[in-house]
Amino acid sequence: MSKIPYKTYLPEAQMPTQWQSLRADMKNCPPMLHPGTRQPVTLDDLRPVFVEELAKQELSDAKFIDIPGEVMDFYRMIRPSPLVRAYALEKALGTPARIYYKFEGTNTSGSHKLNSAVAQAYYAKQQGLTSLTTETGAGQWGTALSMACAYYGIDLSVYMVKISSEQKPYRKAVMETYKAKVTPSPSNTTNCGRAALAENPNSHGSLGNAISEALEVAMSTDNCRYVLGSVLQHVLLHQSVIGLEARAAMDSLEEYPDIVVGCAGGGSNLGGLIVTYASDKLLGKANPRIVAVEPASCPSLTRGRYAYDFGDTAMTTPLIKMYTMGSAFKPHENHAGGLRYHGMNTVMSQLKEDGLLEAIAVPQKSVFEAATLFARTEGTLPAPESAHAIRGAIDEALACKESGESKCILFGLSGTGYFDMQAYMDYNEGRMDDNIPDDATLANGFASIPG
Ligand SMILES: *Cc1c(COP(=O)(O)O)cnc(C)c1O
Repeated sequence: MSKIPYKTYLPEAQMPTQWQSLRADMKNCPPMLHPGTRQPVTLDDLRPVFVEELAKQELSDAKFIDIPGEVMDFYRMIRPSPLVRAYALEKALGTPARIYYKFEGTNTSGSHKLNSAVAQAYYAKQQGLTSLTTETGAGQWGTALSMACAYYGIDLSVYMVKISSEQKPYRKAVMETYKAKVTPSPSNTTNCGRAALAENPNSHGSLGNAISEALEVAMSTDNCRYVLGSVLQHVLLHQSVIGLEARAAMDSLEEYPDIVVGCAGGGSNLGGLIVTYASDKLLGKANPRIVAVEPASCPSLTRGRYAYDFGDTAMTTPLIKMYTMGSAFKPHENHAGGLRYHGMNTVMSQLKEDGLLEAIAVPQKSVFEAATLFARTEGTLPAPESAHAIRGAIDEALACKESGESKCILFGLSGTGYFDMQAYMDYNEGRMDDNIPDDATLANGFASIPG
């Protein structure tokens, strides 16, 4: 057999033209509930806040949804993303494992988030909306959405978690280049921002609070809606392009992973990557292991409760059944900003609950150890979030070295680390710590979960 190539790009003509929903293969996925009535939310409940078509997708049971032609056109500019065989990393580890990664960081926003941003901005435009609001943690989602909104000619207001806006001024500059208005959160532009500042004027901000601010603005502005870059089902749907491309490329190499690994913040890149493999598992066709890697500082899947909870700190969103730390949980300001969310997508949570998804939590320094090894061997500087998946994949490859098994490992490299140099500086200069919350801190967060 000829040597498997370093990089496999799916031919443009073979790019997926439909998104795939994993929830369609599940019988037991709990619905979102209206916080007042505790009944499953309806389209009418979601319509005032969300883009209509996205709300429909959120509630849809369809397994496949056509990707609109204009979204395909944008995808053709930025996709397919490469599937890379990590020969150099394998060699450095001395492992018999075959390691592949799907790299989503080749576009200017630097992460997978653009896959959903483009779809969301497109549907907003179709509906005749003139502006969108959103929150951003580390900045990847805000950047991606600002690119998409500039492309479709929609105004965008981004509430950026304050600590991230300070750590990442260049992210803000990119968003502003794409015409977005960026406000550090908590801010004095909204009621819930002012309330957060009154409670703690030095607040670093949190994703939950930034969501509350963006929601408040969307609900009080004409022709404006709120959009979200993770956690919700329609976001996972759009991210299925990652997994569909990866599957087609792996199939063309006659490879089927024994283990699929991804980092999990709200669950969207992981949910996208695993879509066909998890479907195989649900339908009893195959049984790959699926591993979610999360930060030890914000361990929703490994130490959280599986319960109905709010998506934001102001407790205004529908109730979502998920593994959660509680919306009042304030994760330490570690460097993987995109993984600092208190909850987790419902489908990912239910897979975990059913034993179909394994989860591990890893401390920050070991993540950066993996990130630098990866950068030095594979050449690509990974995002700190993505480096959680690298850590998980390396640990599986080292287990193969112990056992002598030549397993096939596929992991998601969700983005680049170009805008995370403060994190790398802290690591390189020995200023990084691990910040693992104690049980009392977790108990505080759990206390905010509604009964
Ligand atoms: C946002 C982000 C994540 C985490 O979000 P998910 O919805 O869990 O995928 C992971 N990696 C990168 C690079 C991100 O920007």
